[in-house]
Amino acid sequence: MSTPLALPRPACLTVAVASGKGGTGKTLVATSLALAASRGGTPAALIDCDADAPNDALFLAPASSDTAPVEVMLPVIDASSCVLCGACRDVCAYGALRILGGQVMVFPELCHGCGACVGVCAPHSIAEQSRRVGDVEWGRISPGLTGPAGLDVVTGRLDIGEVKTPAVIRAARARGTVLARAVTILDAPPGVACAAVAAIRDADVLVLVTEPTPFGLHDLELAVGLGREMGLPMGVVLNRDGTGGADIAAYCVREAIPVIARIPFDRRIAEVYAEGRLVIDEHPDGAAWFGELWRSVLALAAEDGAR
Ligand code: SF4
Ligand code: SF4
Repeated sequence: MSTPLALPRPACLTVAVASGKGGTGKTLVATSLALAASRGGTPAALIDCDADAPNDALFLAPASSDTAPVEVMLPVIDASSCVLCGACRDVCAYGALRILGGQVMVFPELCHGCGACVGVCAPHSIAEQSRRVGDVEWGRISPGLTGPAGLDVVTGRLDIGEVKTPAVIRAARARGTVLARAVTILDAPPGVACAAVAAIRDADVLVLVTEPTPFGLHDLELAVGLGREMGLPMGVVLNRDGTGGADIAAYCVREAIPVIARIPFDRRIAEVYAEGRLVIDEHPDGAAWFGELWRSVLALAAEDGAR
């Protein structure tokens, strides 16, 4: 473990780490930022919201984990009492109910479990049934890695074949709220679809991780659009700096978004990361990069709070 970083301690801060596409180094940044925060003396929680492929815990190896299932409610139609009035279909804002071949069909992948259909069914032909879609696991990582402030890791994991990623993310975030740590770092799923929205919603600061390639720039533009729509203060982490050819810095200047960290293209980072070890500890510049990044995140939050 490195020397603890002398950083200010926020009272309550939620930082989302996101990217417009996968493979940019988002997990590296999220885990390292969480470690930098806790080593700076701030009790922290890292919530892995990348529920399709969560791997923060692989790097941080939390101990004494506990697990809870994530379930959603789905409507079940009693065809024997249904009068095919269509009220349930009409009230469903998600198009999850259809009347086909003389019966009401439920499309579970579209259902949001809002319960509106149950309330409008006069003959009470709709019941609700819970279905497991994933689980949430949590535990604290070794104090030897973090110092006395501690770091909890919460992992949202979608069951294979399920599609209700936002439900799992909401459950993981709810567990993070129960932990009530001073800082919460959200490792959001890549992209800008509803899963990313569920992960980023209500964050105080959005950290966008990208790489200097044309694809990286294109997907950064999408992610910036999402951040703007949500009204979040943003900073960009430029990973694999020095490769790729796309001028991310010029884009950020045009959009008035600060580049808050540059992680160079360095074979040693790739080697350490590929072996599941911690770049913040095992690269000679790791502690400095991520300590500085944590300071920049605090500065962004303070700047936004002062507006
Ligand atoms: S609201 Fe009830 S009765 Fe009407 S179509 Fe739906 S399930 Fe059937
Ligand atoms: S629970 Fe809500 S989303 Fe699901 S089918 Fe009923 S109305 Fe539609």
